[in-house]
Amino acid sequence: MSENILVAVAWPYANSEIHVGNITGSYLPADIFARYQRLVGNNVVMVSGSDAHGTPVTVRADAEGTTPVQVYQKYHAGFLELFQKLGLTYDLFTSTHTENHFKVSQSIFLALQKNNYLYTERQQQWFAPSQKRFLPDRYVEGTCYICGYTNARGDQCDSCGSLLDARQLIEPRSKIDGTRPELRETEHFYLDLGALEPGIVEFLRQREGYWRPNVLRQSLGQILADGLHGRAITRDLDWGIPVPVPGWEGKCLYVWFEAVIGYLSAAIEWAHITGDPQSWEKWWFEPSAKAYYFIGKDNIPFHAVIWPAQLAGAGEWFGKLFEETENTHLTLPYDVPANEFMNLEGKKISGSRNWAIWGRDFLSRYDPDPLRYYLTANMPESKDTDWDWEDFVRRNNDELVATWGNLANRVLAFCYRQWDGCVPAEIGDLRPGDQEILAVVEAGFQSVGEHISAVRLRAALIESLRLAAEVNKYLDTTAPWFEIKKDKAQAAKSVYTALRAIDSLKILFAPFIPFSSEKLHTYLGYIQPLFGSQFTETRTDELGEHSVLRYRPGPQQPQWQPSQLQPGQALVNPEPLFRKLEPTVAAEERARLG
Ligand SMILES: [Zn+2]
Repeated sequence: MSENILVAVAWPYANSEIHVGNITGSYLPADIFARYQRLVGNNVVMVSGSDAHGTPVTVRADAEGTTPVQVYQKYHAGFLELFQKLGLTYDLFTSTHTENHFKVSQSIFLALQKNNYLYTERQQQWFAPSQKRFLPDRYVEGTCYICGYTNARGDQCDSCGSLLDARQLIEPRSKIDGTRPELRETEHFYLDLGALEPGIVEFLRQREGYWRPNVLRQSLGQILADGLHGRAITRDLDWGIPVPVPGWEGKCLYVWFEAVIGYLSAAIEWAHITGDPQSWEKWWFEPSAKAYYFIGKDNIPFHAVIWPAQLAGAGEWFGKLFEETENTHLTLPYDVPANEFMNLEGKKISGSRNWAIWGRDFLSRYDPDPLRYYLTANMPESKDTDWDWEDFVRRNNDELVATWGNLANRVLAFCYRQWDGCVPAEIGDLRPGDQEILAVVEAGFQSVGEHISAVRLRAALIESLRLAAEVNKYLDTTAPWFEIKKDKAQAAKSVYTALRAIDSLKILFAPFIPFSSEKLHTYLGYIQPLFGSQFTETRTDELGEHSVLRYRPGPQQPQWQPSQLQPGQALVNPEPLFRKLEPTVAAEERARLG
């Protein structure tokens, strides 16, 4: 019985490039998980998109002298290119700047209002008379009231690191034209998290047995310590989604409130694009569906507390308001396997100081699988990890090339030469040692599968590599390259056994390093690919054009099962799967940093 699995992936802010820390933090683990679930035969929808709204995008537009639309489209295009090169198989990667997302977000807002989970409150905020508009906190600069630093931002002081209350800044000035703003009263909608707290606590308690400790600490732990309090969900800003209430013109939904709604709106957009407009309900209304959220640790409260509160609070009103369906409650997160951070050569990654390895730049010099391999082997699942160039070269050469790539290439090339380009046809009965190694490798479908299901991706990769090492040991013992000189029939058994083990390992490695597994799959003589393919297209709606990344599904039958390689099957002349790197690479790459 196949399950409906929603793979919800963090929405990158469309105001900067993506680096390796972002990739290993959320995008890559999501893709590994999604690919595995598809191989098992489950119904996967993997969605995300560019977070186009909010002050980070408008600040960037002001700095570059362009418009927010141009900023978002520029970075969005870069994301689409990177995700294709890296093989991130989004069923839909869209953006928050779509008519559909506006409508879904406004429906969630109105459903919360219907259920009395919204209230309004007046507060003071900086207003720029020169521009006749309220200034977001990031647009006000002044003297830090804590340390006296004269260039503090409204939301944060870069000198003492304190989060600031913008209203208390000394000598405030507008970042746009330097004029002095004044405090004026404004009104905002608040999400009544206090009223939603009992339901959220119950939801989190049900997940105590299997959530990562860090995620529980930042959700349930925080609530039990401090309780939940109302949060403003609107802003005085014109770049974003209008508040759908008469008299509230000029105000927008707060970017954090609407961006998380993207997980739902993207699934709806995906269903429409694929020509089965109601199909999203299988992931969002059926209680048996499981939703996994792949995010970094800095986003835990929004995904483990606030987003579930929005979903629970919208209740059955969402379905009624959105498209008059009688379906009721929206699926709450099943798991939020948030990752910690990856540092670079012992220091925190910093985009602004160029202390980063940028995804697109990296892929202009290296293949995607070595990157996926290293980022998985070094994934910050339970603690911060470090990208170390020497370690990258070592793992590439010793693990990917020596243990796995050479194993596959050596056996395939040998077989191709000695058995006329085919798997040996006359095998006879396998010997006990042959059956033993096949049993060892085939047990991996259980052990590796359990690790991936529980989002322990490092452990799953280590287990796969251990099994490849076992096959190397088997070949050291049987040594078909010598065996063939004495007895070709015996060598045929060894080669057939090794090919079957490699054929199985190919599947076990496929979620992690799909490009090389797909290649190996071809070398082994299979016609149908393992996975589907990616493509982009342009969509048009009332807001204009937006480009999206999509995934054309591959074979529908489950493939996560031991090799059934047929004796006599025709092979394709193989080429090495991976490149060995020179030891000098580490020093060269270090010289590029900073
Ligand atoms: Zn300060």
